[in-house]
Amino acid sequence: MSGQEFVIVGGGLAAASAAEAMRNEGFDGTIRLVGAETHHPYIRPPLSKEFVKGDAELDTVFVHKDDWYLENQIDLMLGRRVNELDVGAHEVELDDGKRLHYDRVLLATGASSRHLSVEGSDASGIYYLRTIEDSQALRSQIEQGGKRIVVVGSGWIGLEVTAAARGYGNDVTVIGMDPVPLSAVLGDELGGVFGELHRQNGVSLHLPAGIRSFNVDNGRVTAVVTENETLPADLVVVGVGAVPNIELAQRASLTIDNGILTNERMQTNAPDVFAAGDVANAFHPVVQRHMRNEHWANALNGGAAAGKSMLGQDSVFSDIPYFYTDQYDLGMEYSGYPPLTSAAQVVYRGNLETREFVSFWHVDGRVVAGMNVNIWDVNEDVQALIRSGKRVDLDRLTDSDIPIAEV
Ligand SMILES: Cc1cc2nc3c(=O)[nH]c(=O)nc-3n(C[C@H](O)[C@H](O)[C@H](O)COP(=O)(O)OP(=O)(O)OC[C@H]3O[C@@H](n4cnc5c(N)ncnc54)[C@H](O)[C@@H]3O)c2cc1C
Repeated sequence: MSGQEFVIVGGGLAAASAAEAMRNEGFDGTIRLVGAETHHPYIRPPLSKEFVKGDAELDTVFVHKDDWYLENQIDLMLGRRVNELDVGAHEVELDDGKRLHYDRVLLATGASSRHLSVEGSDASGIYYLRTIEDSQALRSQIEQGGKRIVVVGSGWIGLEVTAAARGYGNDVTVIGMDPVPLSAVLGDELGGVFGELHRQNGVSLHLPAGIRSFNVDNGRVTAVVTENETLPADLVVVGVGAVPNIELAQRASLTIDNGILTNERMQTNAPDVFAAGDVANAFHPVVQRHMRNEHWANALNGGAAAGKSMLGQDSVFSDIPYFYTDQYDLGMEYSGYPPLTSAAQVVYRGNLETREFVSFWHVDGRVVAGMNVNIWDVNEDVQALIRSGKRVDLDRLTDSDIPIAEV
């Protein structure tokens, strides 16, 4: 494919992984990577964990060392935005009007924090968390401790920030729409494990509670008002989900449905246009439906799959979705197909109270998802079990003395 010109739009993990896969597979054409942020591509999970806690330096978050891009002849165009995708002309237009030809283009534009629009939302002292700058700004506010912080949103990012803020000795209240945190993903019993973890670490959980407005004084937030109460706050952190950055694709008339729709090869409906990462709603051949996963592994492996697909390889992205979290002394990994867990039953081995267990979601004895909490080196076996699709004996599955690989 010598002489071909590929453009990658978006400077995150999916973008960097695609570029890496292309070079690893021997592509010697042009790769232009256009990213709106000024940083080299970086991973976001540490922003709500080690980095915001002050346990990791900035240089640990980058996908590659700076000179990797030069060595691999990736033409990095950072701090630049693609404003238009012209699928007819096979060109993208940058923010300064410059147009770049592409033979194939990858849209890896990611997602943005969902913002609240209730009264008072534009006050200072209200923080969101998506970028390095967001994490630095938040850290500078929470690291002295002693503040009253209200976290709006009891999902993964909200709870991770809560743990970090408690670690600095702040007083933290969490509000969220579900009666039990994370219940939409994990169900009430396992979501309750996380709720209890936070209570035991001194967090006040006010659930369910919907936000009505913010009280503001002199342009700065002073309280969060819910339908039930007014919670005084020196600082508010909002973690109410993310929205895929689809505008570019939408203007180019690509098919959009909860993100940019792709097939299992990460191809969109427009010729030579691919999508990967948080923005892509890709068809999954095992689940036989589209899934949009906002997870690190999806960007890493989906980006690489898209890169290979752009080279014309038969690269089907069929990984089992995977994600992880760290909160206080709890570390967890989850693998599985969320669309299949709603009809599943949950069983576990180990002890929920001491928070050392592996839970399994199964449908008629077939495992569709698994989560290991404070138990390590088992997730690959959990994935193998899911991948096998075999019906297992539930007594053996829940017996900690039997290795998962031997169930
Ligand atoms: C605080 C935080 C913590 C997280 N923790 C975890 C975790 O513990 N585990 C886990 O599995 N996942 C976690 N995630 C999710 C994970 O980080 C994302 O799934 C991953 O970042 C997605 O990568 P991406 O490359 O698709 O998109 P992004 O990382 O969003 O990158 C997209 C990039 O494209 C740029 N861009 C957008 N539009 C344009 C344009 N028109 N032109 C040029 N550039 C553009 C954006 O500015 C951005 O830099 C976390 C996310 C956040 C925010």
